[in-house]
Amino acid sequence: MNTHQICTNLAYINARIETICKQCGRDPKDIHLVAVSKTKPVSDILSAVQCGQLAFGENKMQELQDKMFQITNPDISWHMIGTLQTNKIRLIADKVDWIHSVPKAKHLDEIEKRAAQNNRMINVLIQVNISNEDQKSGCSVSELAQILDHAKGMEHILIKGLMGIASFVENPEDVRSEFRLLKNTLQAHKKWNGGNIDLCHLSMGMTNDMDVAIQEGATMIRIGSAIFGSRNIN
Ligand SMILES: *Cc1c(COP(=O)(O)O)cnc(C)c1O
Repeated sequence: MNTHQICTNLAYINARIETICKQCGRDPKDIHLVAVSKTKPVSDILSAVQCGQLAFGENKMQELQDKMFQITNPDISWHMIGTLQTNKIRLIADKVDWIHSVPKAKHLDEIEKRAAQNNRMINVLIQVNISNEDQKSGCSVSELAQILDHAKGMEHILIKGLMGIASFVENPEDVRSEFRLLKNTLQAHKKWNGGNIDLCHLSMGMTNDMDVAIQEGATMIRIGSAIFGSRNIN
């Protein structure tokens, strides 16, 4: 896709964020747009950077590693948003800024170890399964407390909030309750805050359901196809 088209799309999404925020009384500055560049070429990311977008998300660890290696702009923040393979965390630990998709304590152990080796901090969101489709990864709401207990005191991990992927539905109204569940789950666990735990972010909302996600309290939305066009593979 050409730079002009990507910039037009980004302007549209940013305007949409403003509109929705105005309607529901939120500050647009509280919504962080993560541009999901999976399957798209490095040139598309550079185009988005040219029009001011600096946060990018990828869902494959190898692909993220490759792109972080090729694009060295220090202003970019890199977000891992897809399924984690424990043995590949070392591939991204030297550059990744955020990992949204941590479902288990064992992943925290590996992230802590690899972040320590690289002498850096990594921001982490715990992925909670909010959909009824059980093939989607994420811990259950009832498992969250023990994961937070496990994370407490880790020196190279900051737990910044929760991430959820809503069910794939045609009408986004149908997933409002799933977003609300994630928000309520965040509120219910704020007593863990302190030290390296600061539950403040809600990563929820994609191209199809971003409006509802923002209305329900999203602070990070992960938008791919509305910026970079549709994908053949996922
Ligand atoms: C692909 C992906 C997105 C973006 O999806 P779009 O519908 O293209 O906006 C968001 N979150 C995750 C976890 C993804 O894998």
